[in-house]
Amino acid sequence: QRNAQSNNVRFELARVEQQRRSSPEDLPQALKEVLDSNALEMRYQPKVDLRSKSIKSVEALVRWPSDHHQSVPTNVLIDTAEQYGLIEQLTLQVVNKVFQEAAQWQARGLQLIVWVNLSARLLSLEQLPKLLARALEVWNLPASAVGLEVTESAFIHDIDHTTALLFELKRLGFKLSIDDFGTGYSSLAYLRRFPIDELKVDKVFVQGMMDSMQDKQIVQSIISLAHNFGLSVVAEGVEHEANLNVLRMMGCDEIQGFYFAHPMPSTQLFSWCEQFHRDFHDKL
Ligand code: C2E
Ligand code: MG
Ligand code: MG
Ligand code: MG
Repeated sequence: QRNAQSNNVRFELARVEQQRRSSPEDLPQALKEVLDSNALEMRYQPKVDLRSKSIKSVEALVRWPSDHHQSVPTNVLIDTAEQYGLIEQLTLQVVNKVFQEAAQWQARGLQLIVWVNLSARLLSLEQLPKLLARALEVWNLPASAVGLEVTESAFIHDIDHTTALLFELKRLGFKLSIDDFGTGYSSLAYLRRFPIDELKVDKVFVQGMMDSMQDKQIVQSIISLAHNFGLSVVAEGVEHEANLNVLRMMGCDEIQGFYFAHPMPSTQLFSWCEQFHRDFHDKL
């Protein structure tokens, strides 16, 4: 009894210490300051198209400012923004940075579609389509150059509202993708109901399939399912060539992962794409 109690106390102390370390002083306040000074940074990770052996699109991923005295992982950054009512401000900042940088690529003749992650919570924001449309105007970017990645968890809230919103975004010309497919409440009804273009297989399955027959079957099923619905499939989290080869045999359309590239600053994209066409093209 006594032993169990002291174990509990020790456990509780460890938990508090863990919490203290993972939430540096006043993260919400620090985030607010970063947002107010427009200091978030963007990185871009290519999606490699296996059929054309080329880069048609990249995914935008937000980063805590690299010169900040503290460092915060992206998932913590997003969670904090959601929890403290800052996700709208964060998204506006991300969208404006991304559209500006994407317009610069276009001006330099680099035709890339840029995919932006949208927080599930944002789908309840009534003005979302209007805000996105205005940002396109400001940066003089066509909607056809932009895709939106939404996770499945976005769909469980208000299904009618979500459906209407997705149709409105589609009408404006954005491409739509379901991110982390297979990890949430995947419902086949979504595929029929929503105007989506792409499924992204979560990296849990992509990485798991090298050891697990079940994960491999899940990945194969998602690919078949997507193709039966006329959707394109992207596998995320590809780190090894063996992984890539299995996905190619399975008919996966696009690949993303550290095997090809880590997320990089906008300024590196141009030379990276050039180098890709030199070095990788023949290997694929
Ligand atoms: P996600 O959209 O599923 O993005 C994939 C994550 O996997 C990214 O983490 C990416 O850096 C990482 N990744 C890419 N290739 C590999 C690989 O080969 N191996 C491994 N182990 N990881 C890989 P990141 O950048 O830390 O982002 C985490 C999540 O945060 C994203 O997951 C997305 O849900 C969210 N997020 C990122 N940027 C934004 C944003 O601008 N707005 C919103 N709302 N959410 C964002
Ligand atoms: Mg994503
Ligand atoms: Mg994902
Ligand atoms: Mg993921």
